[in-house]
Amino acid sequence: MSLQEFDIIRRYFKRPPTDESIVRGVGDDCALLAVPAGHQLALSMDTLVAGRHFPENAPPAQIAQRAFCTCLSDLAAMGAQPRWLTLGLTLPAADSEWLAAFSQGLWGLIDHYDCHLVGGDTTQGPLTITLQVHGFVNAGAALVRHGAQVGDSVFVTGTLGDGAAALGVLADQVSLSEADKDYLLRRYYRPEPQIAAGQRLVGYASAAIDISDGLVADLQHIADASGVDIAIDIEKIPLSGACRRAQPEQCLALALTGGDDYQLAFTLPQEHRPQLTQWVQDKMLHAVEIGRVSACSTDRATGPDPKVRCYQGEREYILGQQQGYQHFVTA
Ligand code: ADP
Ligand code: MG
Repeated sequence: MSLQEFDIIRRYFKRPPTDESIVRGVGDDCALLAVPAGHQLALSMDTLVAGRHFPENAPPAQIAQRAFCTCLSDLAAMGAQPRWLTLGLTLPAADSEWLAAFSQGLWGLIDHYDCHLVGGDTTQGPLTITLQVHGFVNAGAALVRHGAQVGDSVFVTGTLGDGAAALGVLADQVSLSEADKDYLLRRYYRPEPQIAAGQRLVGYASAAIDISDGLVADLQHIADASGVDIAIDIEKIPLSGACRRAQPEQCLALALTGGDDYQLAFTLPQEHRPQLTQWVQDKMLHAVEIGRVSACSTDRATGPDPKVRCYQGEREYILGQQQGYQHFVTA
């Protein structure tokens, strides 16, 4: 699609650069970019394949939004400020209606997050969207997975389970009010990357991760990287009303293992609790405490013992075999 390729880029993905960090943007062989002194570049890539990561016939603006927001969530988890974006677009055909809607959805959020599209690649093939986001973080200040310490509290932002519950709405498997459906679908297509929360936690949280695969699976990464165990009190898991109504029996399982939440899970040393409590009171951060970091109870060399355990009161709550929802797969 060689001629069309450049038409596509010019019509839908090229705008004059408006940021001093962009020396050269779309149109040269490379983008030339300036990282401000004293900062590090945080960089993350995500690929979304039609039929696997989103329904094939999903509205293009919503595909763009979901792709961008889930990618930004990784910057949020490191406490980085988004700045640049590159877009790898593989299209079955050069469909101008689809491209107009997709690019409009993308530009809306690019502006919202004060980000700049600086390059990409456009090819023909099965619909696949790869986004790479680049953000700045003060040198040495990024939130990481490996800093959790014994005695830290474990917190999560927002509510969990909504993204997984939305899959039931997409598959038309739940009967819900229109308001609940709208809420859940919005959480699926337009998850709110926790950029502000991540930046607020810089210098306070000892470890952080964004919840993309499910709370337990993602906390396991913190536990592994930090060499600690984590205990979760399942009664403290924040659930939305819509999630409870969508899956009265399964909402907790969705919250623990469902994924697609794009909230942050983080650990916090006790000395910073007063500050966190103040932020929550002042509505500067929405976070609830759900657990504790403890000393590693197993010999890591001996294998795959779970480092993350769930408790209901004193009793251990054993997660069922079900993995929550699998990633959405069309028939
Ligand atoms: P090259 O052949 O040198 O790799 P391309 O022909 O792939 O360059 O791309 C030309 C220019 O358009 C480059 O600056 C590239 O970054 C940009 N570009 C290509 N596809 C996209 C896209 N989907 N969105 C934004 N910029 C793009
Ligand atoms: Mg070139």
